[in-house]
Amino acid sequence: MSNWTPLRTCAVCRKKLPKSELIRIVKFADGTIKADETGKAQGRGCYVCKNDSCIEKFIKKKGANRSFKTNVKEDVYEQIKRLQDR
Ligand SMILES: [Zn+2]
Repeated sequence: MSNWTPLRTCAVCRKKLPKSELIRIVKFADGTIKADETGKAQGRGCYVCKNDSCIEKFIKKKGANRSFKTNVKEDVYEQIKRLQDR
């Protein structure tokens, strides 16, 4: 089981996927929210699949606002869009 990958739930489709197939959005202890490009940032995270339909819905419905119960800045969603393009 050394290659076991922890599964995380996509905030949009609720599917469980390995972290490598998800974009992580993290809320830091100071309240800052941003897309976690390294996947290693400390804080509470939520996840969205790296696929067009989930990311589109996540951005349109502002999925992070719901996950973090706060108003997430537009540039966080811009950042998610950029990560998707990679
Ligand atoms: Zn999904």
